[in-house]
Amino acid sequence: MEKKHSINCVNCGADVAFKPGTHSLVCDYCGTENDIPQEEFQIKELDLNAYLKLDQKQKTLKVEIIQCPGCGAHETLDSDKSSSFCVYCGTALVSGKLQAEEIISPDYILPFKLDKKEALTRTSQWLRGNWFVPNKLKKDAISYANFKGVYLPFWTYDAKTYTHFTGQRGDAYYQEVRRGDKVQRIRRIRWSAAYRDQISHFFDDILIAGSTSLRSKYLNSLAPWDLQNLVPFKEDYLRGFITEKFKIGLKEGFLKAKSQMESSITSMIRRRIGGDDQRIINKQTQYDQLTFKHILLPVYISSFQYKGKKYQFVVNSRTGEVQGKKPLSTIKIVLVVLGVILLITSIYLLSK
Ligand SMILES: [Zn+2]
Ligand SMILES: [Zn+2]
Repeated sequence: MEKKHSINCVNCGADVAFKPGTHSLVCDYCGTENDIPQEEFQIKELDLNAYLKLDQKQKTLKVEIIQCPGCGAHETLDSDKSSSFCVYCGTALVSGKLQAEEIISPDYILPFKLDKKEALTRTSQWLRGNWFVPNKLKKDAISYANFKGVYLPFWTYDAKTYTHFTGQRGDAYYQEVRRGDKVQRIRRIRWSAAYRDQISHFFDDILIAGSTSLRSKYLNSLAPWDLQNLVPFKEDYLRGFITEKFKIGLKEGFLKAKSQMESSITSMIRRRIGGDDQRIINKQTQYDQLTFKHILLPVYISSFQYKGKKYQFVVNSRTGEVQGKKPLSTIKIVLVVLGVILLITSIYLLSK
């Protein structure tokens, strides 16, 4: 049973929103802070096989979700339900189209830490920190559209792996070959006999995005996340923020995690074989102790206009890391290229 305090202010009964950096819900109306009760806990990983075979059903949660007609993202609306825009593509959303949907309940959450103001400061530092950004953009007050806090869904996977492989080590040597009256040194590889070996490794918290609305390039660069500070999920943390519904399921996410693990294992095998080159003739990996968690991570999403073009960016609300595309000044780039050409030419002339 949800307690009454988690919906309305204890003092005046008005709507409350989660305040970044705290464990409180704050009332917009009278300013009262309503504590979210905290209890002792230990992070529990869930058994992946049990859930994949559907012996175990994941807990669900009922939320009001709207599908963006522009980009197809399934998202909740923020507290200002009367006028809302999709955080990903800016399409106007009509609150009348909200539908109650069952979503898989997250197990843990990293609550918002930096508030909107701090996130904006980080964004302008990020813009100003790049010399190539046009001066005009650095000086003018940028008007940020739709600056919104969003909880993005992620999966984390753990696995203990045992890999048996057969490989060959290649060591480089040089051979002198006579071509006409010239002697050339040619690099060749001497291969060892094939041999078998094994490698075991524990993968902890391989992070896979459950949404496809943001470019994965930006999502991956928002890492690292302080996952050691995850807290048990409570709907209270969502108040005043937008949440996106999962697009990538548990199984699909695991396949992505597995391919990340496979490529790490390949690098480990290459390092183990050593030498200048390696041949992996075959490898077989056994996955044990497979576990997962379903978590929500906090970001701010916004965009700004420059010369009629829209530039979207994302801020990690835990670390202040900003990712996105910046407009670059063509004149500054041309100046640098000319400068480099001039430098090379003068070094060349001086050395003559
Ligand atoms: Zn109040
Ligand atoms: Zn959209």
